[in-house]
Amino acid sequence: MMLPYFVQSPLLRGVPGVYHAFVGVDPVRGRSLRDQLRQVFAVPPSRLGTLRQVHSAVALEMEETDGDAPGRRWREGDALWTASPGTGVGVRTADCVPVLLAHPRLSVCAAIHAGWRGMAAGVIEETVRCIAARAGFAAVEELAAAAGPCARGCCYEVGEEVAAALRGRPGGDRHLVKGGSAGKWNADLQSLAVEALLRAGIAPGRVEAAGPCTVCSSRFHSYRREKSLTGRQLSFIYRWDFSGVFTSLPGQDSP
Ligand SMILES: [Zn+2]
Repeated sequence: MMLPYFVQSPLLRGVPGVYHAFVGVDPVRGRSLRDQLRQVFAVPPSRLGTLRQVHSAVALEMEETDGDAPGRRWREGDALWTASPGTGVGVRTADCVPVLLAHPRLSVCAAIHAGWRGMAAGVIEETVRCIAARAGFAAVEELAAAAGPCARGCCYEVGEEVAAALRGRPGGDRHLVKGGSAGKWNADLQSLAVEALLRAGIAPGRVEAAGPCTVCSSRFHSYRREKSLTGRQLSFIYRWDFSGVFTSLPGQDSP
């Protein structure tokens, strides 16, 4: 079977019980994200929640009706998290940053869509706050997080308005550099996302960048390069439900 191109984060691969991918260009033309999930990754689309993304700082806990199934309800927001085994969450991006998070011991994972607007509005911090409210502040430090393929400093030229919105962000002084012409700046969204995750309280060494710049890598869709919104990639994280499959033994680690 022809597979779509995808990258994974070594950190998230080390989290037991979850499966994730930052999916890029699919050589099978016209294959839907739903069919990618089902055919390539063996994840049931009805159990993977997504939102109508609006560049906000709204983070929501997944509900059954966020899955791709008859009767689905499109809620608006830019981060989705779940604490239920046997469910997953995903975001669609072209040049914005997909961020995936998971906890090594608690059954919580999250997916964030963070463009410059969402990042400036604090969508990353808001998602971590939601997880802390549910799982406790001590859980935040142990989270594993990866910022995926997106527009990076090599290609992402922005004007003064965007630069002003990003300048005050964690790492804004380093990941926003003066561009070639007056009033232009180059922003590295991936590094800004990494800094935001660290500032939100995740431990150093538990946050990483995964994948290339979408504008200059032909393996990922880019709004800037393709000048259209038709090609977008799915990034998802899914927690398997092992209950009923394994019998836990005293002292045994989770599967
Ligand atoms: Zn680039």
